[in-house]
Amino acid sequence: MSTDAGPAQILDNAIASQRIHSAYLLSGTGPEPIEQALRFVRGIVCVGSGTRPCEDCPACRRSSAREEPVIDGAGTKGPLYRHVGDHPDLIWVERGERDTRVRIGQVRALQSALRLRTSEGPRRAAVIADAEWLNQESQNALLRLLEEPPPLTTLVLITKSPAGLLATVRSRCQRVAFPVIPATGPADEETQALWERLDALPECGLPNLLEWASEYQGARAPAATAVSQLLEAGGGWLRDRVGTRVVADQPVQGELEAFATLQSCRKNLVQRNANPRLVAERALFALREAIAR
Ligand SMILES: [Zn+2]
Repeated sequence: MSTDAGPAQILDNAIASQRIHSAYLLSGTGPEPIEQALRFVRGIVCVGSGTRPCEDCPACRRSSAREEPVIDGAGTKGPLYRHVGDHPDLIWVERGERDTRVRIGQVRALQSALRLRTSEGPRRAAVIADAEWLNQESQNALLRLLEEPPPLTTLVLITKSPAGLLATVRSRCQRVAFPVIPATGPADEETQALWERLDALPECGLPNLLEWASEYQGARAPAATAVSQLLEAGGGWLRDRVGTRVVADQPVQGELEAFATLQSCRKNLVQRNANPRLVAERALFALREAIAR
């Protein structure tokens, strides 16, 4: 095996030689680490010959792409984890759509699932796709899995940057580093405009902030729609900021707190019929607070 093999090649070689470790840490941004993790775990359970995943054997057919259920970290609107396709030996964990962390309940559910013996093939694998969103409590729970890995099981963590993970977690994983590429930015023009205004928040004084919020008064329905857009754009803007800061090894506590406030704002707006202008005011204050640190 070449020592300067690229990250994807390292994983392919592990499959080809069947020398598969019990834990991997894939780091890097963009879709590649996730795509390669998926290919890797599908290769692990593939029972075909030649290049794995072979896309032809019963295991590959079970783990092939399809619409997957949306994970909910609280387990109320969706499962805590899912399988890859409907393959029972492949488990996928990620942060719930509106969550600011991978919840400890998800790690515990994964632990319980991995205590059960394999049901299909010789090996099984689990992926935690948003490992930078594991808090310390969850990482400690995960550490037990890493210290005493269940037999014939491979755990794959994916993170934008290894810096947010405990040294004890990192040291138990084979490290595979993918390139770090810049964040993708806003999705459309309206969002772009909001992001530009949000970028200027540090220079935005209190009167300007209140003036911005006052744009959301008047008839409730259109105002609520506009505030909902603001909350959506604010969430994306925060996520982008977290991504950049995590890679630069900077703290993100302020951003995570603001994210939680935006969630609560959304709830007030949608479920409690709150005044859109007041919701916008609270959201803008939280966003400004987050970046003032
Ligand atoms: Zn196969």
